[in-house]
Amino acid sequence: MEASTVYFTDFRCPVGTSLTEKLRRLCLAAGIRNIDMDGRFVAIKMHFGELGNLAYLRPNYAKVVADLCKEQGGLPFLTDCNTLYPGSRKNALEHLTCAQENGFWPMTTGCQILIGDGLRGTDEVEVPVPNGEYCKTAKIGRAIMDADIFISLTHFKGHESTGFGGTIKNIGMGCGSRAGKMEQHASGHPAVQESLCRGCHRCAKECGSDAIRYNEQNKAVIDQDKCKGCGRCIGACNFDAIYAQCDNANEMLDRKMAEYAAAVCYDRPTFHISLVQDVSPNCDCHGENDAPILPDIGIFASFDPVALDQACADACLAAQPLPNSQLSQNLAKPGWNCHHDNFKDSNPNIEWKATLEQAEKIGMGTRKYTLKKI
Ligand code: SF4
Ligand code: SF4
Repeated sequence: MEASTVYFTDFRCPVGTSLTEKLRRLCLAAGIRNIDMDGRFVAIKMHFGELGNLAYLRPNYAKVVADLCKEQGGLPFLTDCNTLYPGSRKNALEHLTCAQENGFWPMTTGCQILIGDGLRGTDEVEVPVPNGEYCKTAKIGRAIMDADIFISLTHFKGHESTGFGGTIKNIGMGCGSRAGKMEQHASGHPAVQESLCRGCHRCAKECGSDAIRYNEQNKAVIDQDKCKGCGRCIGACNFDAIYAQCDNANEMLDRKMAEYAAAVCYDRPTFHISLVQDVSPNCDCHGENDAPILPDIGIFASFDPVALDQACADACLAAQPLPNSQLSQNLAKPGWNCHHDNFKDSNPNIEWKATLEQAEKIGMGTRKYTLKKI
């Protein structure tokens, strides 16, 4: 496979310019206008940030992308899917409220928000994974698959399980419905935390597999043999008593995530943008953002999501750790086993290369790239 082109602009902004204008110029240089958007729905996948987190991308960046789509006759909307875990984005109502509290309104973004997998995270489509080794199909939020064109707008930062949260993670994990996320994270079956269960029996009514019964204390119990891993019960429980068991090793998570991302992008026009800024050690799903581990680097864009993640990762590997961060504090620990890898030295139990290796292996893109500075 030939090297892909990744376009890059830094965050320098002489008087008279702006970062939004730089993002616009980057998208144009990278060829966003080559996509025929006329009269077509455009899903712009991003992360609206967990409440309390302030590292997520500002809505102003989303508006640049939405405006470009509208100029080309497209019908853009911002989208994300609900989370697996209890937090401020676990159903569509809370998710929209969270997005709005974080500044995402039609006036600030230039388009509407649709939560991809619906009210309870169960509105999904099962789509084939091209050349999938670990997943033959992927369960993706319906609104995202209904779109004619897919654009990812990613905040590139560290991640406690996958090393970094980049474009492939934004697409693969982010577009998975609740059942899709469960399949990537785990063997696929949820469990009940008895102390939180109030015995309301709502979960059993939602389960189409007759997999939930109640014990002598009237606490829900999931029959792991009958359970099909649809995730409906997690959304049904208003008391956060049902949770996904995250029992996949990080490398398996990386590989499944790459396969999910390939399924989202398969057979339709896509375009990808990644901003390497506020590089917190953990993802924006946290209700906090710890001090950045690396300096702000710039904005990258490409038609190839694999090349894009590789370029962002390489730039981060070449950057100097910031003082007073998780990364520099780890490196300063006596006897620290230095990995010479800014992601692994920040979160040692990660295997980030597996994501890119798997994505390339199944034909999603290439890790070889040429960087063009704008
Ligand atoms: S919905 Fe939640 S609280 Fe109600 S029975 Fe099921 S697990 Fe318990
Ligand atoms: S995940 Fe689906 S099949 Fe399994 S217990 Fe919950 S609702 Fe039933």
